[in-house]
Amino acid sequence: MPHPPHPIRILPPELQNQIAAGEVVERPASVLKELLENSLDAEARSVQVLVDRGGQGLIQVQDDGIGIGPQELELAVTRHATSKILRPEDLFHLRSFGFRGEALPSIASVSRLKLTSATTDSGEALCIEVDAGRTVRRGPAALARGTRVEVRDLFVNVPARLKFLKTPATEGRRCQDIFCRLALSRLDVHFEYAAGERKVLSMPPTDDLRQRLRLFWPDSATDDLLTVSHDQDGLSLEGLVSAPHGVQGQADRLLLYVNDRPVQNKLLLRAVRDAYQGRLLTREYPRAVLFLTMPPEEVDVNVHPAKAEVRFRDQQGVFSVVRRGVLQALEQLEAQRFSRNPAAADAHSPLKEKHPAPYSREFSAASSFIFPGDRPKFATLREYRQGFHQGPGEPQPADRGPASAHHNEPRSDCLLQTDPAMMHSAPPGVPLERAGMRYLGQAANSYLVLTAEQGLMLVDQHAAHERVLLQRLKNNVRPLTRGLLPALEIILHPAQQNRLEELWAKLEEMGFRLTTPKAGLLEVQGLPEYLEPLQAREFLAAALDGQAADMEALWAMMACKTAIKAGQSLATSEALQLLETWLECPNKAFCPHGRPVMVCLGPADLEKMFKRRG
Ligand code: ADP
Ligand code: MG
Repeated sequence: MPHPPHPIRILPPELQNQIAAGEVVERPASVLKELLENSLDAEARSVQVLVDRGGQGLIQVQDDGIGIGPQELELAVTRHATSKILRPEDLFHLRSFGFRGEALPSIASVSRLKLTSATTDSGEALCIEVDAGRTVRRGPAALARGTRVEVRDLFVNVPARLKFLKTPATEGRRCQDIFCRLALSRLDVHFEYAAGERKVLSMPPTDDLRQRLRLFWPDSATDDLLTVSHDQDGLSLEGLVSAPHGVQGQADRLLLYVNDRPVQNKLLLRAVRDAYQGRLLTREYPRAVLFLTMPPEEVDVNVHPAKAEVRFRDQQGVFSVVRRGVLQALEQLEAQRFSRNPAAADAHSPLKEKHPAPYSREFSAASSFIFPGDRPKFATLREYRQGFHQGPGEPQPADRGPASAHHNEPRSDCLLQTDPAMMHSAPPGVPLERAGMRYLGQAANSYLVLTAEQGLMLVDQHAAHERVLLQRLKNNVRPLTRGLLPALEIILHPAQQNRLEELWAKLEEMGFRLTTPKAGLLEVQGLPEYLEPLQAREFLAAALDGQAADMEALWAMMACKTAIKAGQSLATSEALQLLETWLECPNKAFCPHGRPVMVCLGPADLEKMFKRRG
């Protein structure tokens, strides 16, 4: 091995701190997390946060906690200096968020940090200013009891890190997310959050988790939450989880805590998912806020520099208590749903008073299934059909050979071998017959029943229509906008505000015309031509609640919102129109969410069902 070019040396403290900062301070949100944890460790009753330019301008946290004594201010920004542990065994009996004594010096080494603190109410305080790791000033300041930390120009001296940051809107949302996560763990503390000039959130103390959650999760995400409360072998699980039908496409509303510390932990996630097994599709996620409480010696927090990961001594026990706790809540709900007497079940629901909505909604959906409305509401398919071939991006079906029409399609024995070019001028029903199919009728107002050469075929009307609409949306690269008078007004939840900034360009691309006349209010002045105002409201609420991350997902959601529903009766001509348009879609066997659109029972399947053969 060649000789090293330099002798071994101990790194200067600034460099040590910068290296540590690489692990602890990944982005503005990680700074905010450390500062908030310090305030909570200092027994603050009230914490105010100010984040400017997504944290790249300023991150400021002020609390009314015990403060830092005049002699200790310097130590607070020194590496491995902490007031929270003394002996090695303390590491396994942690009651505080912090214990590593690394956060403040790390942050100070990659920013301009000002720490002001007072241990009395006299108003006299001391401050210290550290510029990229070097103390540049210390002296008197004014502050009532408590601490204020101001972090400016984060990563000013590490441009490589700056490059990894996303837009201020995204970094700002991450800050807000981490703020909300911590605010959920301490309901007794008053929290406030401002982004630049804008006051975003104020959370007065409460003893109701749901109430605090409602301040930053939209109603659609809190309405259906079920209470979890389960003790097992000295471990306890408390919190809220979503009912199985209220799933979402992203895993960003799964908040897990161990001894009140927000954690990321695969074992816990797996346990939650396991409880939902059979109730969710692969790409669906539940929502959950769960607090696992256990003896501190049962969990090792010192496995991750930002203390986000934990390790459990008894993994099996932890998995079991989480899975059982969540499962119990789900089973309790299902017992009520399938009860013969909905009114009685509703009366026994522990959530009834606070949350009548999900229950009444479910039961009304069930009854409309039993007593279907007899008025067909499916008058717009012809218009959809017209738009279906107009897209400039896609070749006209008439241009395609029969083989290319089916390319990309998952192979299946009952794929429909039809020639799309033959379908346009033929009277209703004829294209189906040419494909060897005959429409028999609608079952349960939800499935279209056909005979085909392969046997009996059932087509899910909602899924088929979704597929048709998605294709139309994709074809129509620039959809027309229909002006709306008066404009549609949507009050924005703070969480939705950030999402709106991220989605703005995409929504305009879809045909929405939007303005925000004042903070917290969205005005929709124009809609994509095919969308009704009510559907638009639903769609925007879902999009701003984070149910779709990219354009493809937004389109799929739009298709889902505008498609005919299960339980809607269709006239024969409407069913035929739908089937014929659907036959022309690529990827027709699956809906945009990946569920099958059709089920085919071949002669062999039927024989088996009738026990004609084994
Ligand atoms: P740790 O939290 O791991 O001890 P930090 O670097 O985050 O390390 O903080 C160092 C020390 O500074 C803490 O142990 C604590 O004594 C003090 N400190 C930091 N923030 C505050 C605050 N907001 N109020 C009171 N003391 C604080
Ligand atoms: Mg700390």
